[in-house]
Amino acid sequence: MKKSILLFIIFMILVFLIPSVFSRSFLFSNAEVKSGTQNNENEKFNIEEPYDYNQHSTIRLLHKADQSVEELPLDTYLLGVVSAEMPANFEQEALNAQALVARTYTLYTIINSSKHENADICDDSACCQAWLSKEDRLAKWEENLRDENWSKIEKAVNTTKGKVITYEGNIIDAFFHSNSGGLTETPAGVWGGTNYPYLQSVETAGEDAYSQYSSEVILTKEELKNKIMESHPDLILDYNAENPIEITEYTESNRVKTIRIGNINLSGVEIRNLIGLRSTNFTFKIDGENIVFSVIGYGHGVGMSQTGADSMAKNGSNYEEIVKHFYTGVEIVNI
Ligand SMILES: [Zn+2]
Repeated sequence: MKKSILLFIIFMILVFLIPSVFSRSFLFSNAEVKSGTQNNENEKFNIEEPYDYNQHSTIRLLHKADQSVEELPLDTYLLGVVSAEMPANFEQEALNAQALVARTYTLYTIINSSKHENADICDDSACCQAWLSKEDRLAKWEENLRDENWSKIEKAVNTTKGKVITYEGNIIDAFFHSNSGGLTETPAGVWGGTNYPYLQSVETAGEDAYSQYSSEVILTKEELKNKIMESHPDLILDYNAENPIEITEYTESNRVKTIRIGNINLSGVEIRNLIGLRSTNFTFKIDGENIVFSVIGYGHGVGMSQTGADSMAKNGSNYEEIVKHFYTGVEIVNI
């Protein structure tokens, strides 16, 4: 009698265990290691395999401010992302493109990243993706625009419902930024490492019409020296020397790759962060006691440019054309 109970228990364990082991190895059978990342969950999901959309239908969102974790349906979460990441007065097709990019970025992050222990993604744009609650979002808009703006956001998420961007069957790492300055950047140009075939440098017309296109940062000679010394205390900078500051290397898309300041070589990304430039596409001039940095574009420049998307939409492109312009050789598929 005892033996038959034991056999029954073993049988039940096998019934439950085998499918879960099988389905996991099946789902991730096309695992591929993403270069340049340190996490242990680098499997890429092949969209052509049977896929249970419900597996990721609930997002565990980490609120950075108070470290709380909120569970939200995927598309409800995306309303908060699209409304936080792109101005609502942008064209509907640009907002649609943003919703598709945000859904793709979200699923890619869940599958590939292990940045947060008890959450899938956080609401910090510097870490994952910006997000605002509907209440906070509405409060930041003029009262007479609230209904119209929110319905544009809802339309963007609903129009692209269930759609993601893939390259050769895999969900892409859908980087995006504010303004490319007319030419997007490759990942290697910003972070080093490997380039992805779908993140090429592409040109977009009309980005110079936006306020994000050009900006200036002016520092005194002393201020610049102090900023650099915060992370390079061994800096020797004599402004009377010949070429005290010099851009020594450019990326493929003509952004600053390396700049020499005195005896220190800095990457474009490092100086951008140190002195708060909007992008690494800059020139400088020494003007009396000041150093004037003139900057083109806003953001890292990789993937979709939001103002580029809006400019394309104004010229008649739909969201699929916009997405396929910024991500080379991709497909938009239903999951
Ligand atoms: Zn994060």
